[in-house]
Amino acid sequence: MDTQDLSAQLIIANRDLVICNRENDKLTIALNDANAELLLQNDEKVKLAKALTIANIELDAQNKEKGQRAAELIIANIELDFQNEEKLKRAKELMIANKELDFQNEEKGKLAAELLVANIELVFQNEEKEKRAAELVIAYARLSSQNREKEERAAELIIANSELAFQNQEREKRAAELIIANTELIFQNKEKEKRAAELIVANTELIFQNQEKEKRATELIIANKELVFQNKEKGKRAAELIIANIELDFQDEEKEKRAAELIITLKELGYQDEQRGKRAAELIIAKRELLVQKQYKERRAIAEAKKDEFFNVVSHEFKTPLTNIKAVNQLLERSVNKTDKIYPFILNANHSIKRLERLIADLLDVTKINSGQIDLNIAEFDFSDALVNSISNVQQITKRHEILLENTVDVRYSGDQFRIEQVLINLLNNAIKYSPDTSKILVKAKVEAGNILVIVQDFGIGIASGDIDQLFQRFYRVSKTAMVYQGVGLGLYIASEIIKRHEGRFTIESQPGKGSSFCFYLPLNQLTLN
Ligand code: ADP
Repeated sequence: MDTQDLSAQLIIANRDLVICNRENDKLTIALNDANAELLLQNDEKVKLAKALTIANIELDAQNKEKGQRAAELIIANIELDFQNEEKLKRAKELMIANKELDFQNEEKGKLAAELLVANIELVFQNEEKEKRAAELVIAYARLSSQNREKEERAAELIIANSELAFQNQEREKRAAELIIANTELIFQNKEKEKRAAELIVANTELIFQNQEKEKRATELIIANKELVFQNKEKGKRAAELIIANIELDFQDEEKEKRAAELIITLKELGYQDEQRGKRAAELIIAKRELLVQKQYKERRAIAEAKKDEFFNVVSHEFKTPLTNIKAVNQLLERSVNKTDKIYPFILNANHSIKRLERLIADLLDVTKINSGQIDLNIAEFDFSDALVNSISNVQQITKRHEILLENTVDVRYSGDQFRIEQVLINLLNNAIKYSPDTSKILVKAKVEAGNILVIVQDFGIGIASGDIDQLFQRFYRVSKTAMVYQGVGLGLYIASEIIKRHEGRFTIESQPGKGSSFCFYLPLNQLTLN
């Protein structure tokens, strides 16, 4: 082959190669693309493989849990099997017992039928009894309230009785002493009468002597005249004798006057003696009276001290059991339904417990006041707070009465807020208690001449003027109304003592049938109270 042919063939082969190369390039690109896809797919698979591994770990953990749970279930199963066996045994025993019970039940059925009949009868009887019991409970409540009233009255009567007995004894003693004094006076009078008779005798003698002297004087005048007549010579002498006689007359007259004066002086002395005797007797009587009064006061003070001691001990002794009763009653009040028929009795008991508590507190306060031990906790407070607190405290317990605060005071007062509220609460409670037919109660407060003035006014039964001055005495109650309204007569006594301890004072204005105003004044510059 020549070179031309070769080169022609080479060119052709070259073209073929070029074509082949192009094909190869295309194939390479396609391979690269396929490779890239495979790589992508591989990445996905790796991710998936990782996720699968995590899922596998979780499944392993869950499998372990399940394994443990299965083991526990197997143990529980074994236990249940054991329990089932026991139950089977128990069921067999129960079957036997059941048969026995069936037999007993039949017997009981018969008995029940009999009991049913008896029960119906009993239910009927019980209903009757319950009705009777309810009636008895009401009657009992009425009786116990009447008994309480009677007991309170009896206690008051006993105290009044012992005071009267004591006064009677004193009067009897006084009468005996007066009889003795009288006898002495009669004896003294007799002595004086004797003395007067003696004086009259002495007087008569003096008059007789004077008459004798007068006779003698007359005789002397006659003798003188005779001498004058017989002895003219002795005229001068006679004249002298006449002068002497006249002088003697004059002296006699003087003596008579003197005697009369002496009689008058004697009489006066006698009268003065009588007066002195009377005065001495009066002084002795007055001295005895003073002694008796002193002894009476001493005995009274001892009796008062014993009474206070008794009240103190009794009140303290009452306190603890009363606290227990109160707790039980409160428990009952909470646990019993308000519609239950015993609920009103519980409320009633609650009311009585509160009354007893107040009475004990009053008695303790009285003994404290008498022994000077009532301590005040002095601090500054808003006086209007005390008014508002007391009113809301009392308003809570009454729906029938309306307490209106007409005026208040905007001052800071230095005193014992608790005790001042105690006074206000007592006045408000009295206003309610003694106004059964009216509903309005007014409270007014103002500052007047350096004092706080508080007035509690009601429109109730009022008080007679003769009783007003005595209201602040211990245990004093107006006798007309004492039987109608509950109370012991201590509230106003305690209130007045508290106000006195704050350097204050009380006044009362009242008209029977129209109402009362209780006022108290408290001086404002009180910071130095002890
Ligand atoms: P108590 O009210 O317990 O008897 P107090 O000492 O509070 O005792 O009152 C003494 C007496 O004063 C009462 O028994 C009553 O007769 C009379 N009294 C008190 N406040 C009033 C009032 N607002 N209206 C009429 N009488 C009253």
